Amino acid sequence: MQIDQTLLPLTAHVAGNGHLEIGGCDVTTLAEQYGTPLYIYDEQHIRQSARTFRKVFGNGNVAYASKAFLCKAIVDVIREEGLMLDVASGGEMHIALAAGMPGDQLVLHGNNKSKEELRLAIENRVNRIVVDSFDELDRLDQLTDELGRSVSVLIRITPGVEAHTHEYRQTGTENSKFGFTLNNDVALNAIKQVAAHEHLDFAGLHCHIGSQVSRADGFRAAIKIVMDFVGTIATEYHVREIDFGGGFAIRYESADEDFAIEKLGVELIEAAQAAAQRVGLPEAPRIVVEPGRAIVGNAAIAVYRVGTIKEIPGVNTYVSVDGGLSDNPRHALYGARYEFFTPEHMDRQRTRNVSVAGLHCEQGDILGRDVPVPNDIRVGDLLATPASGAYQMSMASNYNKVRRPAVIFVNNGEAWVVVRRESYDDLLRLDS
Ligand SMILES: *Cc1c(COP(=O)(O)O)cnc(C)c1O
Repeated sequence: MQIDQTLLPLTAHVAGNGHLEIGGCDVTTLAEQYGTPLYIYDEQHIRQSARTFRKVFGNGNVAYASKAFLCKAIVDVIREEGLMLDVASGGEMHIALAAGMPGDQLVLHGNNKSKEELRLAIENRVNRIVVDSFDELDRLDQLTDELGRSVSVLIRITPGVEAHTHEYRQTGTENSKFGFTLNNDVALNAIKQVAAHEHLDFAGLHCHIGSQVSRADGFRAAIKIVMDFVGTIATEYHVREIDFGGGFAIRYESADEDFAIEKLGVELIEAAQAAAQRVGLPEAPRIVVEPGRAIVGNAAIAVYRVGTIKEIPGVNTYVSVDGGLSDNPRHALYGARYEFFTPEHMDRQRTRNVSVAGLHCEQGDILGRDVPVPNDIRVGDLLATPASGAYQMSMASNYNKVRRPAVIFVNNGEAWVVVRRESYDDLLRLDS
């Protein structure tokens, strides 16, 4: 079978010579020009997915979760498309601000925000701080008094929902390091503390049930629980907005179902409105979402070059490429599955099952186990993965002192470097 082109970026196209083109650029040429491993992002794809979310949820109701992939160039695109930006650390906030994102377009997350991070957020007048613990509330009480500034906060709650995803990506269950439980009035007490403080503005609630959540029922269950809670506190506290976080699954393999965001989005909004009526609210809270993966995941491919092919008769064949868990730890972390294809020969049938390995000193450094590749795959061929735009470069490391890959954007026949490949000297820059 050939690669399912619906997994590829929007502008992907197979040229007459069998080469894959993205953004009007020949991927084979890009790999020669910029080297491998190479991350190629389709700018139009990012813009299109941002627009879809903005259309479904409305202006001011979508924040891109920057942990999926962050660099100055993506901040530019997100800002131009009118989305806010979610940051979950001082580092992410610093990059967002350095790239010119206005502070009031930032939402700050984290289950252990330092005083320094909170101070930076307050000084830059961020849009929301999503409060995750009583310790954080104490820090916020102190800091806002000290700085004489107010800040709007959301209280992050755990709805006790088990999202349909890998255990490491579930964040909404009762036993979670994130948020306040609804049980024993814990969340209610957090809201009380916010309301009692003159510099804290209670804007609403936040809940994020997990990532790569592939079924709508988790979201439905969360809406019901959150809205029931809103109903119970409605006489005392006005919940202006509910931020349902991100987690919208994308397609990695052709067998994965398409999680039509238009349909789900409308359903979420309608469910929240219906629930608001049911619990007797005069008007429904604003629904905010924070997609990360769904904006950038399918927008990029990762391109590697095959260096060795090792056949172990009767056991397995290892096709090793020039990257690995240092640029894509997702298989090692969660057993994530990918498809592989040769962008120089898109017409080749993929008939031979192999393991695609990285170059690191770990047997677990595998990008794909038992995956089909073209039968005649050779050393020197390019080998690529679709759906590589999220949680790959943002999780990249220098393990084995491997230099992190270059990232390029492509659009309308042009390609440019947005994050350059690390040099050997870069690997020494922090040593004293
Ligand atoms: C990770 C995260 C997101 C984004 O998740 P995706 O699965 O990439 O959409 C949004 N909000 C919060 C709070 C998160 O932790």
